[in-house]
Amino acid sequence: MDLLFHGATGDTTGSCHLLRANGCEVLFDCGLYQGRRSETYARNAHFGFAAARIDAVVQSHAHVDHCGKLPMLVRGGFGGRIHATHGTRDLAEILLHDSANIQVKDAEHLNRERWRARSYAERRRDAARNCPPTYPAALARSTIPEAEVTPLYVDEDVDATLPLFDSHVYREWFDVARGVRARFHDAGHILGSAWIEAEITEGAKVTRLVFTGDYGRPGQPILRDPEPLAEADIFISESTYGARSHPPFVDMERQLGDAVERLARRGRGRLLVPVFAVGRAQNILYTLSHIFEQRAIGDVHVAVDSPLASRATEIVLKYPEYFDEEALSEFHRLQLRSRLKERLTFTESVDDSKALNRDPRPMVVLSASGMMESGRIVHHLAWHISSEDTEILVVGYQAANTLGRRLVEKAREVNILGHAFQVRAKVTTMNGFSAHADREGLLAALTPHAKRAKALFLVHGENDQRMPLARNLVERGFARVETPEDARRFEF
Ligand SMILES: [Zn+2]
Repeated sequence: MDLLFHGATGDTTGSCHLLRANGCEVLFDCGLYQGRRSETYARNAHFGFAAARIDAVVQSHAHVDHCGKLPMLVRGGFGGRIHATHGTRDLAEILLHDSANIQVKDAEHLNRERWRARSYAERRRDAARNCPPTYPAALARSTIPEAEVTPLYVDEDVDATLPLFDSHVYREWFDVARGVRARFHDAGHILGSAWIEAEITEGAKVTRLVFTGDYGRPGQPILRDPEPLAEADIFISESTYGARSHPPFVDMERQLGDAVERLARRGRGRLLVPVFAVGRAQNILYTLSHIFEQRAIGDVHVAVDSPLASRATEIVLKYPEYFDEEALSEFHRLQLRSRLKERLTFTESVDDSKALNRDPRPMVVLSASGMMESGRIVHHLAWHISSEDTEILVVGYQAANTLGRRLVEKAREVNILGHAFQVRAKVTTMNGFSAHADREGLLAALTPHAKRAKALFLVHGENDQRMPLARNLVERGFARVETPEDARRFEF
């Protein structure tokens, strides 16, 4: 058997790992690379393997950087089964449709850029006939594609992908390909998330493999704690926060509660919370419901202004069997009455979203996108960022070159939708809501396997995180720790 890594090698997106055994090819995850718009198209346009030759996919969870290329795989001729938990399948449906819309918009954007680059070059050529044309050189320097861009996939490709899903419960073995079987265990990262245990039989040789997917952290709201990893010969582990420690969740609840109280005391304005629609949005809502139960907070309204987050919340509520005990008892209690429910609205239409901006009541607004680069949050920011009655709560990772990062870095003036805005809003950063294990969590999960594991591969982490983790794991007794580059092949 051999393993090849086709993404999330030295960064945290595009998770895609290929197992070849008994003449079969199995993918663990099939994720989109996410980053700058112009770069992502080029990096996502191809696979490093033949899509039609893949026999099956085993899917760790529904985040788009782990499942977002499935429709392209199907477009490329894949017709096998996609194995996932029930929760992952349901979330993948809404996330892949949302992603198809983004692909269409991104292709339009790139074609506009192409048109601009071409017309600029043609004007230059007309103005100075003897000068060499600048168009190809300009294109060569930039990441703008030369040919007309078509979306990576559209809704119809998603429709063709969904029937290929085979849904499974946790801990039940299923056959994947000849000599390969697998089962899911709760990874405690988002609803339905799993770490994967696989058993590969080649003749008399049996190899056990564990892929962590995105490994969660204990004590996260709603979800059960991640299950301890099984024994295996080969581990493929994420390393997102391989060199960082998270503050505890209790601190987050206190800080969020304080921010809501500040809003209630002001009696006007906004607490804007940019969120990722799946996972973070539900965690914040759950934490808010706790806060409203435990603190006497005056007239504050809560709006979830993200149709995707609303649909994801519905799916989370559909699966109480995935909840931890605390959330389960809370869930049954909240069915009857909740102080959050009385204050909460989910807005669907664009008109309802706009109407929120004219609502004079003090309001907590949860809206996507999490890094403030797109989505409805941008309009809320444009309306409120220059008001001293606004507080912006940054609860997720903010990548370089995003509006979110500029706010975290305390920019006094920012550009939103082509206009300059003074930042008078208070910006509060809370780093503790992460749904990934931190350095201590990863070491605690992996170290018990140090003596027996033959090899451990670190993926899904930038090198400043995975390299220190690799050193730590060698110190803990792992004989072989690899930090693979793209398309690298390992034989066993
Ligand atoms: Zn994830």
